[in-house]
Amino acid sequence: MEHKSVMLDELKEIVGEGGWREGQDIARYLEDPRDRFHGLSQLVLLPKSTQQVAQIVSLCAKNQIRIVPYSGGTGVVAGQLSTEDQDYVLLSMERMNAIRDLALEDGAIIVEAGCVLADIQSAADEVGMMFPLSMASEGSCQIGGNLATNAGGIQVLRYGNARDLCIGIEAVLPDGSVLSELSPLRKNNTGYDLRHLLIGSEGTLGIITAATLQLKPKNPETTTVFCGISKPEDAVTLLRQLRMELGDVLSAFELLSNIGLQVLQEKFPEERQPLGSAFEWYVLIEAAGDKGLRDNLEGALGNAFESGLVLDAVIAESYAQQEALWRLREMMPEANRLAGAICNSDTSVPISQIGNFIDKTFAAINAIDPALTVNCYGHVGDGNIHCNVFPPDGMNKQEMLKTQAEKIEAIRMCINETTAACHGSISAEHGIGRLKVADLERYGNAAKILAMKQIKSALDPHNIMNPGVFF
Ligand SMILES: Cc1cc2nc3c(=O)[nH]c(=O)nc-3n(C[C@H](O)[C@H](O)[C@H](O)COP(=O)(O)OP(=O)(O)OC[C@H]3O[C@@H](n4cnc5c(N)ncnc54)[C@H](O)[C@@H]3O)c2cc1C
Repeated sequence: MEHKSVMLDELKEIVGEGGWREGQDIARYLEDPRDRFHGLSQLVLLPKSTQQVAQIVSLCAKNQIRIVPYSGGTGVVAGQLSTEDQDYVLLSMERMNAIRDLALEDGAIIVEAGCVLADIQSAADEVGMMFPLSMASEGSCQIGGNLATNAGGIQVLRYGNARDLCIGIEAVLPDGSVLSELSPLRKNNTGYDLRHLLIGSEGTLGIITAATLQLKPKNPETTTVFCGISKPEDAVTLLRQLRMELGDVLSAFELLSNIGLQVLQEKFPEERQPLGSAFEWYVLIEAAGDKGLRDNLEGALGNAFESGLVLDAVIAESYAQQEALWRLREMMPEANRLAGAICNSDTSVPISQIGNFIDKTFAAINAIDPALTVNCYGHVGDGNIHCNVFPPDGMNKQEMLKTQAEKIEAIRMCINETTAACHGSISAEHGIGRLKVADLERYGNAAKILAMKQIKSALDPHNIMNPGVFF
């Protein structure tokens, strides 16, 4: 016990005054954005440099003190929350938030892991470029967390996941050594690419301290359209048709349902359904490209309207209208939370399977209890569909958690089974964290899981880096 408190004092010494928090001051680090878990750490360390991170990890490795890396705390699979016991140190990257370099000729920006995603977007914008990783949590999540979870978001269709936008990485490995590969090289075939091992490793193989990210040229014109359609398969057909007619200009292609819009309007009555009448399904499309793009898109949508694929559409006439259309999508996770969703999936399926997956999921949930409401929405362009399930009228989430936990588990499992039947993944973009450990064991490929365990024990033999995540 005494040994432990000496260790904690030594850790505090590394970060110095203002570099650690405990007691009441750490309450916010222990919260889950979906209110399902509560973290248990006693101490939060806030290093200011890679050198401090290396010293902390070295000391923790020697004394087998467990570390939970923490960035914006917006992760939704409890990867950033130590839920097992109190003997964890939370390592928050928030004070490492400098932009180290803007390498414009290399089309790159070098940032520290604690940079908030929206701040990186703004820094790129200020130099006439764009950093296209974008999601509803971008005002809080940090790039270290984005890389650790290989985050996706709304523009994956065109620009890829966090992984596709990262060309260099700096990280402290579990023994305290520093992997430094921040050069904005586009080609570097010199053995195993540890950058890609660390991306998506959810803090289990080291602490990402900085990254080199690709910047993209801005598009002169951006057009946003909201369409009514009759079924999810039509969204898939429309996506294919628009890509064939317009080329690679679509940057987002989001599916929404009328059920979802009703949930949203109940919680945010000021948000309006933008079409004259309601349809069962909608797509929100963003195209970005050269001047004249809007006319081309209008032409292509006109063809889709004539063939009956699109039932009605509105094109944003101003930036304010674009923003209003996007709010319908971006506020959906919060509306689901406020409406008390009892189950949220982060499913991905091959794009061709989206309609099949949604039909099967509705049927399976209906068979469990026809009074349940299901809101499916998500990124059609990368097959990522989120299913949110709400309690029957007259019942709320807390009551259901107390009295019908088995039914909630049955709903969760039926979505997983449908996902597996459609050759999909139980985690498209959120990761495994502590929430989906059993699901990974059940649905993951056995050879892959064994290799993951071998990599983990080779790099982190004392299991100090975020134990409880993945396994
Ligand atoms: C409203 C809302 C909308 C969202 N929308 C999307 C979306 O569209 N797409 C999407 O992909 N996700 C989305 N998410 C989930 C979440 O925002 C992402 O997973 C995000 O990448 C997490 O970043 P963070 O900085 O908050 O990380 P945290 O939550 O702090 O941490 C996430 C994980 O990464 C590890 N970690 C954090 N920092 C580091 C580091 N420096 N080194 C190593 N490991 C680290 C943590 O230990 C944890 O396992 C959403 C969440 C919310 C609340």
